[in-house]
Amino acid sequence: MMVKMPITPHFASIAELRISSRLLTVVDLIRPAYWTLGELRAPYRTTVDKAGLCPYKREQMSVSLQPILSVRDLTVRFGGIVALDSVSFDVADGQIVGLIGPNGAGKTTLFNCLSRLYTPQRGDVHFRGRSLLALPPHRIADLGIGRTFQNLALFPTLSVLQNVMIGVHSRTRSDFLSNALRLPWVGREEAEIRERARELLAFLDLTAVADHPAVGLPFGTLKRVELARALANTPALLLVDEPAGGLNHAEVGALAALLRTIRERRGVTILLVEHHMGLVMQISDNVVVLDFGRKIAEGRPAEVQRDPEVIRAYLGVDETAEARR
Ligand code: ATP
Repeated sequence: MMVKMPITPHFASIAELRISSRLLTVVDLIRPAYWTLGELRAPYRTTVDKAGLCPYKREQMSVSLQPILSVRDLTVRFGGIVALDSVSFDVADGQIVGLIGPNGAGKTTLFNCLSRLYTPQRGDVHFRGRSLLALPPHRIADLGIGRTFQNLALFPTLSVLQNVMIGVHSRTRSDFLSNALRLPWVGREEAEIRERARELLAFLDLTAVADHPAVGLPFGTLKRVELARALANTPALLLVDEPAGGLNHAEVGALAALLRTIRERRGVTILLVEHHMGLVMQISDNVVVLDFGRKIAEGRPAEVQRDPEVIRAYLGVDETAEARR
């Protein structure tokens, strides 16, 4: 299946991309690209070993009850529309949490607050005990929060490997000057980035398409490339926006296994916005349900599925039955 991808500029080489992308941030690109480019300026930090595991995570692969993310009283209004109405919940370290709700419930607005693309009128968000609201969007990746986008934020003319290298570049030290002077350590750093990107491609079963341009690849493959790019900066928390959209039944099954593997092998906590109930209920430890901006339920998947408020929000109220009461 051919996919429409965001329009992004063409770059001849990765070095050119690194220089050009810094210039492009100045003219304020579209938001998904802004996010990616913001990541490019974060300093290099070696937080993974050869197996791609964060050392501190290797010690604790089980779910801890310590919240990694705390959303408190979050309120966002667009004119008269209350997109989020005093929403509070925690995500424990190592959990997979599903964030669900009918169309317009406020899921994307919440993700945009966590990514600092939106600033709430009230409330706060703490990541590892630190408020996110004081930070600009490009610092979010540096803190250890990664994100995938519903409509993919890839560079279509770059190869799969280069797209993933962009994610790893968020940890580089090199800048305009050191790149232009071709300092020896820049070459070594570039080789490390390439190796790290190749390791991620192997992890996500993408080695066969490493040199293929992103454009023209099947949608399911592009979703995995997007995951690889998001994992490249070794996030502790991954925000995954509708990963099952456009996938067939078999691909959704593979995605469920993949998200679990990312949590178990990489120790990444996952907050998942998804309309595919089968996927959410299968892999989530906890589910948070929004409706018209309010949190209407929270709990284990089986509890949430039985909740009358959730059933009402998804199926609507039988008005005839209501009138008979
Ligand atoms: P979907 O599942 O359809 O993506 P959602 O749960 O992600 O929906 P949001 O996109 O967060 O819902 O929207 C919540 C409400 O806020 C909706 O009524 C939407 O129209 C409104 N909204 C979201 N973004 C904006 C905006 N930038 N300007 C005005 N209204 C907005």
